[in-house]
Amino acid sequence: MTDIDYAQLPVPKFHRVAMIGIGLINGSLAKVIKGKGLADEIVACSRRESTIARAIELGIADRGVTDPAEAVIGADLVVIGTPVGAVGKVAKAMTSTLDRNAIITDVGSIKTKVIDDVLPHLPFRGRLVPGHPVAGTENSGPDAAFDTLFVGRHCILTPIAETDQDALAKVKALWQAAGSRVSTMTAEHHDRVLAITSHLPHLIAYTIVGTVADLEEHQQTEVLRYSAGGFTDFTRIAGSDPVMWRDIFLNNKEAVLEMLGRFSEDLSVLQRAIRWGDGETLESLFTRTREVRRGVIAEGQAFQRQAAVEAAGGSDDRG
Ligand code: NAP
Repeated sequence: MTDIDYAQLPVPKFHRVAMIGIGLINGSLAKVIKGKGLADEIVACSRRESTIARAIELGIADRGVTDPAEAVIGADLVVIGTPVGAVGKVAKAMTSTLDRNAIITDVGSIKTKVIDDVLPHLPFRGRLVPGHPVAGTENSGPDAAFDTLFVGRHCILTPIAETDQDALAKVKALWQAAGSRVSTMTAEHHDRVLAITSHLPHLIAYTIVGTVADLEEHQQTEVLRYSAGGFTDFTRIAGSDPVMWRDIFLNNKEAVLEMLGRFSEDLSVLQRAIRWGDGETLESLFTRTREVRRGVIAEGQAFQRQAAVEAAGGSDDRG
């Protein structure tokens, strides 16, 4: 892999960043901001005092409060990083003290519902820059945060029609400073794409691991003992945060159900092929999926090359 000199990319500078929610994602972003000196101060806001105390102890926040209204006072950047089901509630709570020029962004895994929930509480729609870093682990909380989480990963911004260009550019520069490949698209498009690339795979992992959990005890013990690569990978995905994923499925219902419908049809085709000994169908599918895998790897390598060109002063066609 080529080493990328991210220091060459444009660097945003903020006075006070309010992190509403300070877990894996906001904590990792806070680490980037601290590490690169992108803000004078980071204020963490979390439900529990213990989470705030830990964030301060870890050096990813300068101070913290439990009230979103207090957290956003004087902030020029507000990053909402709670489970998506709580975004509307925290947005409502901070309305009264929000600075009219503050940029509001978020890191939620779905976008249409987040925008619907946040917009009614914003005095100025132009400062909203919804975002989704497509990076994560199965761990939660500020202790799980690390500053290289976003390096080489996509970050999708879904500006609304009224989003100010300067706000969009600053949020884009922030994610680039974190090492992400930034692209923009509509929230609806984002939710459809993520339904197939992320939400459906999680649903499948939850199902497979759930099936094992329901097996009789002796069978379950055998599965766990002889767990090979495939199943272990599924358990890692199925070990993801239950509240976060509950909220994703409940709030991206239509797109997930559509993809699930297609998946069920494809599964039936495979079921039939196995029943009737149709090796041709199976081999043909597995050959195509192997190509997809190669494409995914090639895409990652292309990004590394493109980022290296940009770091050397080349063009930026990331969108
Ligand atoms: P996390 O580590 O569990 O942290 C969540 C934070 O939100 C904590 O500060 C928590 O406070 C607070 N919080 C939880 N429930 C809340 C509620 N009902 N009201 C107010 N605050 C609440 O979560 P995360 O993994 O960073 O995920 C945060 C967001 O990033 C989610 O919207 C998720 O969709 C998105 N995202 C996650 C990943 C991933 O892989 N994890 C990847 C991309 C995007 P306390 O600790 O004080 O309870």
